[in-house]
Amino acid sequence: MVRRMKERLDCVFSPASIAVIGASRNRRKVGWEVLDNLLTYGFQGRVYPVNPSASSIHSIKAYPSVLDIPDEVDLAIVIVPASKVMQVVEECGKKGVKGLVVITAGFSEIGPTGVELEDELQSLVKKYGMVMVGPNCMGVINTDPEVQMDATFAPILPLRGNIAFMTQSGALGVAILEHARNVGVGLSKFVSLGNAADVSGNELIEYWEKDPDTDIILLYIESFGEPREFVKIARRVTKSKPIIALKSGRTEAGARATVSHTGAMAGPDVGSQALFEQCGVLRVASIQELFDLAQAFSLQPLPAGRRAAVVTNAGGPGIMATDALSSVDVEMAQLSPETIAYLEENLPEEASTANPIDMIADADAARYGKVMDAVLKDENVDALLVISVPPIIEDEVAIARTIWESAQKHEKTVLSCFLARTKESPAFKELVDHGIPSYLFPENAALSLAAMSTYKEYLEREEGMFRAFDVDRSRAEYIIQKARKGGRRRLHEMDALALLKAYGFNIVRTELVSSLGKVVAAAEEIGYPVVLKAVHPDMVHKTDYGAVSLDIRNREELVRHFNAINKRLSSKGLDTKEFMVQEFAKGGKETIMGMKLEEKFGPMLLFGLGGIYVEVLKDVVFRLAPMTDMDALRMIKGVRSYPILEGVRGEAASDVAALVECLQRLSQLVEDFHDISEVDINPFLVFEEGQGCKVVDARVLLTSRPKEENRQNEKGGGPSRGR
Ligand code: ADP
Ligand code: MG
Repeated sequence: MVRRMKERLDCVFSPASIAVIGASRNRRKVGWEVLDNLLTYGFQGRVYPVNPSASSIHSIKAYPSVLDIPDEVDLAIVIVPASKVMQVVEECGKKGVKGLVVITAGFSEIGPTGVELEDELQSLVKKYGMVMVGPNCMGVINTDPEVQMDATFAPILPLRGNIAFMTQSGALGVAILEHARNVGVGLSKFVSLGNAADVSGNELIEYWEKDPDTDIILLYIESFGEPREFVKIARRVTKSKPIIALKSGRTEAGARATVSHTGAMAGPDVGSQALFEQCGVLRVASIQELFDLAQAFSLQPLPAGRRAAVVTNAGGPGIMATDALSSVDVEMAQLSPETIAYLEENLPEEASTANPIDMIADADAARYGKVMDAVLKDENVDALLVISVPPIIEDEVAIARTIWESAQKHEKTVLSCFLARTKESPAFKELVDHGIPSYLFPENAALSLAAMSTYKEYLEREEGMFRAFDVDRSRAEYIIQKARKGGRRRLHEMDALALLKAYGFNIVRTELVSSLGKVVAAAEEIGYPVVLKAVHPDMVHKTDYGAVSLDIRNREELVRHFNAINKRLSSKGLDTKEFMVQEFAKGGKETIMGMKLEEKFGPMLLFGLGGIYVEVLKDVVFRLAPMTDMDALRMIKGVRSYPILEGVRGEAASDVAALVECLQRLSQLVEDFHDISEVDINPFLVFEEGQGCKVVDARVLLTSRPKEENRQNEKGGGPSRGR
């Protein structure tokens, strides 16, 4: 075996020699299973069982310790009890072993004592410059025929293919390997990460990015180690290889105490969702879906567009397919007149020549072939879903063969659905062996096709630019420090406005005053109509207290509103001497812009159509900071009510470019100060194109304690910029 060892992980995936430490003569033990898999699968290198109380295992000479092996050892699979792991790993270090796969459990997953042991293990691995997968994992696989390594204890040997698979759950890993084999999905590499004390998921993804044997990356994720790093890596990797992820698990968010609309709407899963969307990772909801997509991506080319045709031998499934496709935004292609004419001439009278094309029940292989060729030649068709309800008389393998033969003649995406036919059916095998994904039901095929189109669009999308604006950072710093010194977590309303102003936001003219006389003077200065608002630290949403009066036209009205607000407040036991008099802003649309700092994900930005009903309508989109201009634009376009900003029924379009810029300014602010935990600009008024936006109300909450990593001393806008 001649193999390069250029990358850190090469010793794990392409070792020339493996020691199985804790190999067992007992066939029911993992220590037997791993050795057995290595041998049965036909590992191309040398294998050394290590066990102090056996002279041979599986007919191979065994060694009492790794130190006794008279040869170099690239990789050690460690299966000894947890109490012996440290000693064994120390010996591996002394022996000069390069890589470790620690299958042994009993580390951080069991609690504090385990955490301590894992820390020690980690240091030991570092000390000897080794690379470790695990602990608490189920092993690794490389199907490269030059390596041929199955170092897992899964009872199923993998098929060779172009998919790399990483799982955080070992137990699920076994099930996944089995399922992959069942549906004919082949793997290039497989890793069960375990506790990921050394090799992380992020490192694997970067390794697979360069792996010529891997075209598609599948992830089963329970929690993110370094989500911000993941975004950076995945954004790049997904441009050349699709990443399909199944994410389970509970909330990653911190405490839910919140004073803002933004905070209230940041549900447990928005962080992961925002992250996946931002970096083009395709998220699936189940293992079934994971494999449905994997089949499609690994076997078929991406469709050029979203126009699909359906060819079927039964009407019902054709309609089901049509429904399923349109529910995932795949269009039914409009066949060209030539295609329709051809179909009319060549199909029986009862057949339907419009898409979905129903060739009726007696369709034989020849009819499938003719129709498929005609449809795949049609320029209006990007992809084809062929359905077959298993015929009674016709030979289904012949039909399957015709399908792949026809598909191979054209460069379009072809998926098939042989209703209710699983891997046991010869037709399924015929299809899958020749590169045609075969699904049980039309919905599975539809979803897979939609994902392919989504990915194709992702590949073509512009990533945009990160921008650094010229802002008054020291002013912002001062405002935050002032609040800290005053022991406040929530900034005073005027300070919240001033903070945004320092980062370039337009603020409606606002005066803070303390008496009726000054209120009147301020209104005269600003000019009627004005808005009057009372301010009080205990008051979160002012409207709830009747503390906002809009469109006040003159002094008389102003006095009346002043008194009314005071009366309402004192009836609620709130007395205040602080009032804001504001210019009454007319003609803008109410949007909301906000941020919630999530423990792991960092600042998460929100945009939506705003106003006081925002929590009811929940028409908002979350994205992680930092964001490019294109991220911001996609985010804005992502709200359901976006057409309102484009202008409906003769209305002028809103200044979306200004919104994009403001989202990036907000992104810069919250990246600069990680001790801002929530921002809520609601409403953020957006005016007609070219007229910009204005803040009329803002709420800013600081973290409970100042963050050390408040990166004021760092140059270039902090370490996360451009990540
Ligand atoms: P709250 O604390 O209840 O969020 P706001 O200051 O946002 O109070 O005011 C409530 C609503 O009044 C806003 O959602 C907006 O519709 C309207 N409003 C507030 N200030 C202005 C203003 N300066 N110009 C125009 N409308 C305003
Ligand atoms: Mg408000």
